[in-house]
Amino acid sequence: MSVIFERVALIGLGLIGSSLAHAMRRGNIAGHVSGHARSEATRATVTRLGFCHSVHATMEEAVRDADLVMLCLPVGALGPAMAQIAPHLKKGAIVSDVGSVKSAVIRDCGPHVPDGVHFIPGHPIAGTEHSGPEAGFAELFDGRWCILTPLSGADHVAVEKLSAFWRACGSRLEVMEPRHHDLVLAITSHLPHLIAYNIVGTAADLEEVTQSEVIKYSAGGFRDFTRIAASDPVMWRDVFLNNREAVLEMLQRFTEDLTALQRAIRWGDGDALFNLFARTRAIRRSIIEAGQDVAATNFGRNPEKK
Ligand code: NAP
Repeated sequence: MSVIFERVALIGLGLIGSSLAHAMRRGNIAGHVSGHARSEATRATVTRLGFCHSVHATMEEAVRDADLVMLCLPVGALGPAMAQIAPHLKKGAIVSDVGSVKSAVIRDCGPHVPDGVHFIPGHPIAGTEHSGPEAGFAELFDGRWCILTPLSGADHVAVEKLSAFWRACGSRLEVMEPRHHDLVLAITSHLPHLIAYNIVGTAADLEEVTQSEVIKYSAGGFRDFTRIAASDPVMWRDVFLNNREAVLEMLQRFTEDLTALQRAIRWGDGDALFNLFARTRAIRRSIIEAGQDVAATNFGRNPEKK
């Protein structure tokens, strides 16, 4: 594969930033990758792992001469980062981000984007519950969707170049309105995380059922929620603070449906329960058919360790 950007700067070197660095190396996508993380500890780890050509203590140094700047920080940190790098961006540079929310990011970053710089927000729909520079791997984006939410009047050539970059990293591309992105992600990602955080929290606070029982018998379903509920607290705090309206809208629908289920259980309405559970099975099949998961029993876990 040939180089798409001569110089790429990664601001934030956690799971997503480090995975991008690995993917760029795998595909020979960038001539030079510079990286910045705020903490000395992360910078030392990145230097040891060697996935960036240069590691910088300041954002300003990292973005110097960059053709593409990828902001890989928690959503709440994106606006201040854009304000900080703005005076140091090269004319014609593309700045993008990987934040899980789009309308709030556009609200916070948009006003700081200098003339002659292309700001094209994005979000790779790929991740794990692990974070930090050691969590990244080159295959993270393979076969996963990346959603771009360009602003009206965005430069087509720049959007196409950024799309080519994501494709080279393994992604499939989709373009969406920011508000629509936030609604779609509220139901497919944000609400499932909220439910997982809530059920794990509820189980931890029970008195009659002990915590050791919850852990011992977790294979009954609970442990699958704990994987999601182990995700980074800062990232998820920022997601809920910044996608408030869409999450509350989906939560309202969810609560109404949960009340209907509660009623079906109370009145012994087996048909209502059966019909819903039969419909939801079909959704699982569609996800497998779309190549977004594998059909392996028990998520491919070793049956010995059930
Ligand atoms: P991560 O592994 O926790 O890494 C976050 C990086 O941001 C670290 O380098 C950290 O620096 C830096 N950082 C944190 N707070 C900061 C602040 N206030 N100011 C400056 N730097 C700060 O996070 P991640 O999973 O890569 O997530 C990054 C972004 O990708 C988030 O916006 C998230 O919404 C989005 N995203 C995540 C996933 C996922 O599954 N994780 C999937 C898609 C998109 P130090 O290491 O020095 O502390």
